[in-house]
Amino acid sequence: MGVRPDPLAESLGLPLERGRLLVDAHLRVPGRPEVFACGDAAAVPDLEKPGSYTPTTAQHAWRQGRVCAHNIAASFGDGERQAYRHKDLGFVVDLGGAKAAANPLGVNLSGVAAGAVTRGYHLAAMPGNRVRVAADWLLDAVLPRQAVQLGLVRSWSVPLDTASPELARVPAKGRAATVTPPHGQPEPGPDVAPGPVRRTDRPTEGDS
Ligand SMILES: Cc1cc2nc3c(=O)[nH]c(=O)nc-3n(C[C@H](O)[C@H](O)[C@H](O)COP(=O)(O)OP(=O)(O)OC[C@H]3O[C@@H](n4cnc5c(N)ncnc54)[C@H](O)[C@@H]3O)c2cc1C
Repeated sequence: MGVRPDPLAESLGLPLERGRLLVDAHLRVPGRPEVFACGDAAAVPDLEKPGSYTPTTAQHAWRQGRVCAHNIAASFGDGERQAYRHKDLGFVVDLGGAKAAANPLGVNLSGVAAGAVTRGYHLAAMPGNRVRVAADWLLDAVLPRQAVQLGLVRSWSVPLDTASPELARVPAKGRAATVTPPHGQPEPGPDVAPGPVRRTDRPTEGDS
């Protein structure tokens, strides 16, 4: 998710922190020993930064997934439960081409040096398929870009302000229409990705 918590978490009626399920360091919902949560859906206490929660990043999500699976097994008597703890060693941001930023172990880098660290880290983090990915990067560096076609999703058609952002708004004509694009916004053409999705909620005033 990374942008907003999944509405599913809200619908459970359990304590939330900004839409994320509150859990303890063992990724368990307090008072509900049978409920575990991790990743973007969970507000996990950051044991390295007391008083805060781990950010919604893939770095935390996959590590929490592993600990969560371990603790679920432990709840059935297989092994000892573990607390989730992870210390960031810095960040890496690949901005495409030779542009990147990174601060491994607190050393601020940009440009090619940051790109090398970023790509190296991402390659090491891949669970497999590394040779193909590295070969793709190498070919991309020496060959012109491939022609690709991207489906476009207009911003007005993604209702982030509702409980069902995954149900796209569709134009008034032709399809299972419920909403007309706001003034000045183009109607989606044939290049628009969402198919005929029928929304079940009614657009409210200000829904744009
Ligand atoms: C544009 C963007 C860029 C990002 N870049 C980075 C980055 O560079 N580095 C980084 O670390 N993190 C990045 N993130 C954040 C990262 O993607 C998330 O933190 C991570 O994917 C969270 O993993 P997750 O498994 O918790 O949730 P998700 O990856 O969201 O997986 C949840 C899954 O559950 C499914 N699901 C939802 N509801 C239901 C349901 N009711 N029933 C069944 N399945 C359901 C969803 O379809 C989805 O497949 C980015 C996020 C975005 C949006």
